[in-house]
Order: sequence, then structure tokens, then C-alpha cells
Amino acid sequence: MQINKNFLELEESYLFSTIAKKVNEFQAANPEAKVIRLGIGDVTLPLTKTVVDAMQSAVAEMADPATFRGYGPEQGYDFLRLSLQEYYKSKGVELEADEIFVSDGAKSDLGNILDIFADGTALIPNPVYPTYLDTNTMEGRKINLLDGNEKNSFLPMPEDGNGGDLIYLCSPNNPTGATYTREQLKAWVDYANANNAVILFDSAYEFFVKDKSLPTSIFEIEGAKTCAIEFCSFSKTAGFTGTRCGYTVVPHDLVCEGTKLNKLWLRRQTTKFNGVPYIIQKGAAAVFTEQGKKEIEENVNYYLENAKIIRETCEKLGFWFVGGDNSPYIWIKCPDGLDSWEFFDKLLNEIYVVGTPGVGFGTNGQGFFRISAFGMRENVIEAMDRLEKLYTK
Ligand code: PLP
Repeated sequence: MQINKNFLELEESYLFSTIAKKVNEFQAANPEAKVIRLGIGDVTLPLTKTVVDAMQSAVAEMADPATFRGYGPEQGYDFLRLSLQEYYKSKGVELEADEIFVSDGAKSDLGNILDIFADGTALIPNPVYPTYLDTNTMEGRKINLLDGNEKNSFLPMPEDGNGGDLIYLCSPNNPTGATYTREQLKAWVDYANANNAVILFDSAYEFFVKDKSLPTSIFEIEGAKTCAIEFCSFSKTAGFTGTRCGYTVVPHDLVCEGTKLNKLWLRRQTTKFNGVPYIIQKGAAAVFTEQGKKEIEENVNYYLENAKIIRETCEKLGFWFVGGDNSPYIWIKCPDGLDSWEFFDKLLNEIYVVGTPGVGFGTNGQGFFRISAFGMRENVIEAMDRLEKLYTK
């Protein structure tokens, strides 16, 4: 028996374990210090009432022989697919319900999608959410990096890389918080259509987009249905990081070598995936009711207000940054030429604030730092007070 040797090519990810180790050591040496963590990309607000009520009544259904459900459709129950179809319609995107596949989250689908593609070249932004790089490395696929930098405000365009046939775009972006405009996405769609490439569009943070001129779905862009797959998630939208639900859109018009990718993905999912629990899908569908939407909007606005407080502090201190206006992440350039870990150490040791070193998301993240707005308000305010005092001494 032999192993998949591509796994040996994976870079060890020490990012979050190193952060945890440094914070634990600091806390042990300074037990009285109140450490504030603005590093983690997990949500802090609980599930909303409407979602919890829907899940509780689904639990009751499961306890009654008349309404109990066993295996459900692998692609998701119709009630949720129809809610999602309506949601897309509300932003001017017409989809067939069978173009929407319900999943246990964007991360699984982003990895699993590679099952339906042959070997080729992935074009992956640097820096970005590490899953894209690692899943392609596991498959032994060729990787070209797309150069995100200060000059292009971390929104790389086709000319910032050496091409590829599987293009990863993440907007609003993790870790930079930068969000592509309609014109920029149109350029990517035109590039993909002209080069027979497929865009994998990660829209996990779309609910944070408040600027109406910015697209929240690649399918708002003309021509996208023939070149793109979209990955969405209830994680950041509705606090489902521990509950697990997402959806992936594979349009019927997306055809490679005469075969619809929708058909391949359906076959892949019905073979290797057995669906998301009924109880969870009921909770997810409740997100799209009038009351459900109102409640998640309140949560998203809470995080965006945190982001605004962070942005305002960075503006006041004259830091270069992107993000935080239509996303929960603020990506700042470390002041005084510090590298990512030096800045991390400085904030931890001097003001007891924890963020995420940008270099953990790719080499182009060196010298940058991610601050997350997913914390509680009082902690964000206090952390920004401390940062302001540190840099106005
Ligand atoms: N895509 C991006 C850009 C993310 O930042 C994350 C989680 O942090 C995910 C996908 C994963 O989402 P899910 O919880 O739906 O698997």
C-alpha cells in the first residue's frame, strides 16, 4: 500500500497553533493581563430566535412517527432550495432549483469540487483562505499564484498572475476584507470565458456587502453562468459555523468538453455525500423568512459596527488598510516596517491584543495583519483604545 505523496508536499500550518502557544505563554507569565482576542474568524453571536424555533420544531417532527424523516435528498430538501432560489431572485439572479446544492458548508465543497476536474493549473490569490492551496496540493495539481498587494489593494486581476484553468476568487476576501467591483468581476468572467477556465467563486461573506453597487454573487455578472461555480455558507451569514450548512451553485450552462458540470457534481454528491440533517436545513430555511432576515441583518450589522470602530481607529492612526467596510476583516499594513509576527508580538506584549499575522495566509501577507470584527463590542472598543494609546504616545 502506498500513500498519496502529495500530502507530504503540504506546508505545516503553524499559524493558529503558534498564536495559541504565544498567547498561553504570555498569559501564564502575566496572569493579571486582560488579553483581547481579535484574531479568530469564528462568530461570537448565537443563533437567532427564528432559526432556533425552526430547529426545535424540526426536532419535535423527528420524534413523531408520522413526521419522522430518514435519509433526505443528497442535494438538499426542496423547501430550502426554493428559499435559496427566491433569495437569488431578490438580487436579480434567475436560477433553477436544481442548480443549487445544499451542503454541510463551503469548506467541504471547495475541497470536493476538485473531484470533477482533471489535472490542470489552479490560479490562487496570494494571500487568501488557505483551503484552496492545500486542496490543490493534496491533488498534486499545478498552482500559479495571483499577486495580491498594496498596489492592487489586494484585488488581483488576470494580469497579476500567469494564468490557470481553475480560478479561485474570494470576495469579500478572507483575510483582506477587500471586495471586487462589478467591473473587476466582469473582467474575470470575460477572461475565464475566453480561456476556457472555470471560476470558483467563494462568496462566504456576501451578507456583509452593504454597498449596493458591489456584487454579492458572481452570477450578477453577465456571462458568469458559462464559466463559474459559486460557494456560499450560512456560517458567517447566520452564525452556523458550528451548525454546518452551505450551498453551491453549479449552473446548467456551465459546460466543459460537452459535459454539464452540474451533472457531474450531482453524480459526485449523490455518490459521496448523504445530505445535511433535516433539522439543520429547517433552521437554514428560517434564515430567509422575513423575521429571519431581520434578525441576521441585526447580527451582521453588529459585526460591521465593530469593523467601523476598527477602521476609524486605523484611519486616525494613519495606518494603511483595506476591508472592514463590506466585510468583517480589516487588513492593515504593519506600521514602522514591522513584519507580521513582530507586530503580533508587539500588540500582545504591549497592549494584550491578539490579531492574525498576515503572512499566515501566504507570502504576500508578510508585513500585514488581519483584525477580525467578530468579537464582542466592548472588547473591540477596549482593544482600539489600547491601540490608539500605544501609537499616540
Ligand atoms: N470560505 C472562506 C473564505 C472562509 O473564510 C471560510 C471560513 O472561515 C469558509 C469558506 C468556510 O466556510 P464553512 O464554515 O461554510 O465551511
